[in-house]
Amino acid sequence: MRQVLGAPGPAQRRAIAKTITLLESTRPDHRRRAEDLLNALLPHSGRAFRLGISGVPGVGKSTFIEALGLFLIEQGHRVAVLAVDPSSSVSGGSILGDKTRMERLSAAEQAFIRPSPSSGTLGGVAQSTRESLLVFEAAGYDIVIVETVGVGQSETAVAAMTDLFLLLQLPNAGDDLQAMKKGIMELADLVVINKADIDEAAATRARAQITSALRIFGLHGRPGQGAHEVDVWHPQVLQLSALKGTGLPAFWQTVTQFRDMQHRTGRLVERRQAQNLAWMWERIESGLRARFKHHPAVHQALSGMTEEVRAGRMAASVAAQRLLDLLN
Ligand code: GDP
Repeated sequence: MRQVLGAPGPAQRRAIAKTITLLESTRPDHRRRAEDLLNALLPHSGRAFRLGISGVPGVGKSTFIEALGLFLIEQGHRVAVLAVDPSSSVSGGSILGDKTRMERLSAAEQAFIRPSPSSGTLGGVAQSTRESLLVFEAAGYDIVIVETVGVGQSETAVAAMTDLFLLLQLPNAGDDLQAMKKGIMELADLVVINKADIDEAAATRARAQITSALRIFGLHGRPGQGAHEVDVWHPQVLQLSALKGTGLPAFWQTVTQFRDMQHRTGRLVERRQAQNLAWMWERIESGLRARFKHHPAVHQALSGMTEEVRAGRMAASVAAQRLLDLLN
């Protein structure tokens, strides 16, 4: 596939953009071509490090990604930035991955910033992003960053397609509590308190608070039988300033430790296998749901049954069973 996408350069960029446009299309003939393409790409994918990043609007995601991207390029990496933002179809334009937000990074030859697809549902957006990720890997990008906003289910979707899920936080406890309530903390392998330059003391306090909150969740990296303590990952909390660039080398060092451990213990392979299977089932379920709704007999009976359930004349489980029986 590397031959198909070509060597790094303007022609490869065009080939990538064309491929992704095909993947994002919902036309059945495009979809069939996209599926053939994906299968051809697959053996050449999987070699990148997949980094998921989330945080509320204004926390500094684009500032951080730009600083990190430039830092990584300097070290010889090629960096792709993708976004998952289901709201972009509502607002009519993507608020994530917007090129004007990361001007210096998007001007870099070794970087590729792809805005969120605006295909509507989270499932659709997540599918395009997952598939685009494979395209970038096959083209030789060795770091793929997938960004999302800290609202809704999009974080779960991004955590489910990346090797490390990073949560950006502001140095104040209010946000932390909010994030904990949403259970997002439990997804995080790493938490970064950004804007530490504004109030170092607040950042340090937030770091201590979040560290103890993560200990309470304590679900990460539980040792299996015979595992060494050295192979257990305790989610870490770091503080930095994306604006000033301070703390980036330490951040990357921590990421590298995590990656090394994932490789050493086989957890990377396990995580990706589980992600692939979960994704397959998610696609099956959403496909079945669509087929169910379009089935002629179901379609005919659905509104009547819905009304029966709404009016309390039929138990929901009975209605569900009768509708399912219509499929036979
Ligand atoms: P996003 O919405 O999460 O992508 O946030 P942005 O990257 O657009 O940042 C929002 C605002 O915070 C911008 O005005 C940035 O310049 C500012 N900002 C981002 N990171 C830092 C930081 O580390 N320190 C300070 N003081 N400001 C920052």
